[in-house]
Amino acid sequence: MVNRDNFRKIDPYVPGDQPDFADMVKLNTNENPYPPAPAVIEAAERFSAGRLKLYPPTDGGALRRDLAAYHGVAPENVFVGVGSDDVLSVIFQSCFNSGRKLFFPEISYSFYEVWAELYKVPYFKVPLKADFTIDADDYIGKENGGIVIANPNAPTSMAMPAADIERIVAANPENIVVIDEAYVDFGGESVLELTRKYDNLIVVRTFSKSRSMAGLRIGYAIAQSELISAINDVKNSINSYTMNFPSIEVGKASIAQEEYFRTTIARILKTRERLVSELSKLGFVTFPSSANFIFTTHKTVPAKEIFEKLREKHIFVRFFNKPLINNYLRITVGTDEEVDKLIGALKVILK
Ligand code: PMP
Repeated sequence: MVNRDNFRKIDPYVPGDQPDFADMVKLNTNENPYPPAPAVIEAAERFSAGRLKLYPPTDGGALRRDLAAYHGVAPENVFVGVGSDDVLSVIFQSCFNSGRKLFFPEISYSFYEVWAELYKVPYFKVPLKADFTIDADDYIGKENGGIVIANPNAPTSMAMPAADIERIVAANPENIVVIDEAYVDFGGESVLELTRKYDNLIVVRTFSKSRSMAGLRIGYAIAQSELISAINDVKNSINSYTMNFPSIEVGKASIAQEEYFRTTIARILKTRERLVSELSKLGFVTFPSSANFIFTTHKTVPAKEIFEKLREKHIFVRFFNKPLINNYLRITVGTDEEVDKLIGALKVILK
């Protein structure tokens, strides 16, 4: 019988459920409630499957070039991957090899700790302030082997000013600072421009949220070319052909649809405002969100109870059974209709 000591033991990252009920309201994984732009859907339909007999370009090809043009950088400054999870995972394997501790916020995207464990990177979880914001000074003047910060942070939804991030980047010139901007299009201040000035900064983005393309899996990083080249070397040592032809074609089509992109974001921000105000009338206290989700707690009713009662009604939100945040709910901003269903259900539950 196989010796189980040979198996790698790890507490895996636990993604949000992907339930499948016809009548469900799915507000648990921060997907965009709107479909991709019509031109993106057309590009997917037009895709010529005969090309699939060939391997795709190893670097994302035309998608990389268009992303570079969109952001006003060179293709050598762009690394493309299979969702930002893939991009971050390769960065964790490429960039934190000093043996010193990687710093990331104690409450943040829980995948950071999973990758640190998996790739045996020592780490320190930096506590947040009492109000769940990140104190830039906690990352300045402290010996570390790199820094990862989601801005806006998840699941707190709150953003840090770009000036604070710049202070962190400037104060750690020898260490790589990764800013995960998965939600930045919903109200955060991007530091993408600062990648020109600092050779230790990597900005990571995704098509999964603001571009309504979670199902296609596209993420990317922007940094100076030497750093991108080092990340590419590691990626090519794991799996060279990560970006398939449909992702390249359909992703490219999305970049060209700026107006649809902006309109969709504006709709989500409007619904977010209404959601927060309706929740407040029901006794919820919500953090100021710069993301396509909100983080909220009820003044009297435990979050777990609300989460379970909503689930019975096929309304899915995210509850984290973890210290510090186990009385909060993370709720994705859906369509107005979805938000109405949520509020209607909450009125019944809290009656
Ligand atoms: N970063 C953060 C902060 C996230 O919340 C997510 C979504 N779970 C990701 C990265 C990864 O998203 P994707 O792999 O779909 O790009």
